[in-house]
Order: sequence, then C-alpha cells, then structure tokens
Amino acid sequence: MKQKIAAWMQGRYGADALSRFMLVVYLILSATQLFPLHTVVRLILQILSATLCVLIFFRLLSRNIPKRTAENTSYLACRRRIKEGVLLRRNRWRYRKTHVYRKCPHCGVQIKLPRVSGEHRCACPKCGDSFAVSIR
Ligand SMILES: [Zn+2]
Repeated sequence: MKQKIAAWMQGRYGADALSRFMLVVYLILSATQLFPLHTVVRLILQILSATLCVLIFFRLLSRNIPKRTAENTSYLACRRRIKEGVLLRRNRWRYRKTHVYRKCPHCGVQIKLPRVSGEHRCACPKCGDSFAVSIR
C-alpha cells in the first residue's frame, strides 16, 4: 500500500512549508467552528476552510513543480520579512536604553548604534556609505 502511494505521488509536488502553514490555518478555521457562532460567520468560515482544503490538495498533487516551488519561495521570503520585522521591533525595545536604531538613507538597512548624544558620522555595514546621525 505504501509503495502504491509512493508510486502515485511520483512526479507530484508534495508537501512544503506553505502547505504546512495552510494546513495549520485550516485546522484553526476548523477548530473555530466548534464554538457557537453566528450562522453567516459559520458559513464564511466553512467556505474558507473548504477552499483551503481544496488548495492544499491541489498543491500537494500538482505536477507543475516550478510554479509550486515559486509559490513556496515567495511564501518563505514573506515569512522571513515578517520574522525580521518582529525581531527588529523586539530588539529596538530590548536595547532602547543603550542603543538607537537609524535607517541608512542609501540602502534602507536598520543600523544599531550606541546611544551617545551628539552629532556623529556613521558608515553603513551593508553598502559602505557614510551619513550624518544626530542622537539626543
Ligand atoms: Zn546602507
């Protein structure tokens, strides 16, 4: 039986990070339907979870592997940007008394600088350009 499934899945995309995320969202949507909800809300949740279920199976069984890989790659890039944003905000809060964060005007990267009041020149570690920084 296991070999038959493996032979049937030959050439198909299978599971990836995006499909696992979609599965978690599907399970959360399904779990919310256990609670007493308004009929319209319940109907919307059922439609959403059914659509998600169809999409999960579509991606799992798809033979268009380059397209599914591109979807997963863009999902991973989006997830990485969100993680970096959360990490940056957490670190800004954690080091707010000892450091300041400034954005490089050339490349836009956030630079962590020691909180020393006055006018300074800062060199960006990413692009190498230097710019004026005023810290109060
Ligand atoms: Zn820069």
